[in-house]
Amino acid sequence: MTGAAEFDAVVVGGGLAGLAAAHRLAESGRRVALLEKRDTLGGSSAMSGGWFAFSGTDLQRRVGVADSDEIFLSDMEASGGGAADPRLLAAMVARQAVGIDVIDRAAAWTDELKVSAGMTRARAHLVRIRALLAFLRASAVESGAEILLARRADELVVEGDRVSGVRSGGSVFRAVDGVVLTTGGFSRSRELIELFVPHQAAAMPYGGPGNSGDGLRMAWRHGAGLADVGHIAGTYGQHAETTDDEHELLTANYLGAILVNAHGERFIDESLSYKILGSAVLAQPGAAACQVFDAVVRARSRPGVPLSDIDRIEELGHLVSAPTIRALAEALAIPRATLERTVADYNRAAGGGRDVFGRVGLVNGVGDLVPVLEPPFYAYPAVTAMTSTYGGLTVAPDAAVLRVDRSRIDGLYAAGEVVGGFHGASYMTGTALTKALVFGIEAADALARG
Ligand SMILES: Cc1cc2nc3c(=O)[nH]c(=O)nc-3n(C[C@H](O)[C@H](O)[C@H](O)COP(=O)(O)OP(=O)(O)OC[C@H]3O[C@@H](n4cnc5c(N)ncnc54)[C@H](O)[C@@H]3O)c2cc1C
Repeated sequence: MTGAAEFDAVVVGGGLAGLAAAHRLAESGRRVALLEKRDTLGGSSAMSGGWFAFSGTDLQRRVGVADSDEIFLSDMEASGGGAADPRLLAAMVARQAVGIDVIDRAAAWTDELKVSAGMTRARAHLVRIRALLAFLRASAVESGAEILLARRADELVVEGDRVSGVRSGGSVFRAVDGVVLTTGGFSRSRELIELFVPHQAAAMPYGGPGNSGDGLRMAWRHGAGLADVGHIAGTYGQHAETTDDEHELLTANYLGAILVNAHGERFIDESLSYKILGSAVLAQPGAAACQVFDAVVRARSRPGVPLSDIDRIEELGHLVSAPTIRALAEALAIPRATLERTVADYNRAAGGGRDVFGRVGLVNGVGDLVPVLEPPFYAYPAVTAMTSTYGGLTVAPDAAVLRVDRSRIDGLYAAGEVVGGFHGASYMTGTALTKALVFGIEAADALARG
């Protein structure tokens, strides 16, 4: 297509946030085009574990989890170290029902529910993410949305003070009511990672291959502000040889494992957020650490459940096992005596002593410690990966993009990982997908309201 085409709304980026926005706009009768630069939809969303954070769900009630919107909100405030924008967090909790409703319609729930990073209640809900994305795409197309693949948006078109469309190659896509940026983060941009968080530059680049910060750059040119970028951190728990096709993140530490570095020493409370662990691991020799555990933790594997599937790691040939701690140390080429002492010290703490790193639970203070006692013993060598960059554009609670002086950029909305302000200093599992879904819909509603 060359020349100009006119729509009510143009959505840039076809991951969860973009598909949610396009679906909502098309269902409400708007003429909408979605531009995706790659030849497939999905971005990081399709690669993700599929964990969503919600409070007060039917599943939580069924299994007797006492959660509430207030606890969800205060957990997010705490996990963000008080640095997240409280208005955005309140809006996310208040609007979560629209996300739950879409997952209901897509019939994409599973029965998996767990406590994960940043949570004091079992609030991470496993959703069949690809089924959800397929539902959104199909419903958007059925309602008349035009989805254009291999269509990279290059820049915003601005008339006066208002964003009125998007330029892509030789074409202009006019957007009468506005543009929604849903281009994801910049985990694949070495330039931006080195600019904002040079101390994270050794993290393995991961996430959607198209996620190079295009939306940030487009909005900067028109004065957009930024939030949370200095806090961006990689996630610990991925094998150095993981591929784009199969992500093998494992957090056996949340099932009971300890982390040891190349010297055979522990270095942190393993129950902390995998983002905090990610930064700590980058500072270890070789920027790597092994998850070390015994047969008791091995038996807690949940086949098919992202982060907890030890069986799949073993099938991939990335799990090391040995009959004794000494033999495990030899297999890992780390000092035997040190690893034996590390395990003995930890076992004393797990047996009721005081842990030198202050660990009191499996994850976030929840769950009893497990000594590394029952042979055989296992190790999963893992690194820190930049799976997502959860800082980005400043937005209002209705997803309108704000300039550095907090004024609104008329006609410009943004949702998903391109946006900052939701996570602050750290990140609660599941909130990236929840925010992409909820605020993709919110952006569509705000744009339709005018
Ligand atoms: C391995 C992995 C596991 C994860 N697990 C979880 C999890 O379990 N729970 C959770 O909450 N979060 C998780 N995350 C993070 C989460 O998946 C992302 O933050 C979220 O999916 C982002 O959604 P999005 O729609 O904003 O971006 P994306 O899904 O990344 O989509 C952005 C799209 O925009 C396209 N695009 C970029 N620039 C342009 C342009 N100029 N023109 C047109 N198109 C463009 C990209 O190609 C891409 O398709 C995980 C991430 C990874 C990588």
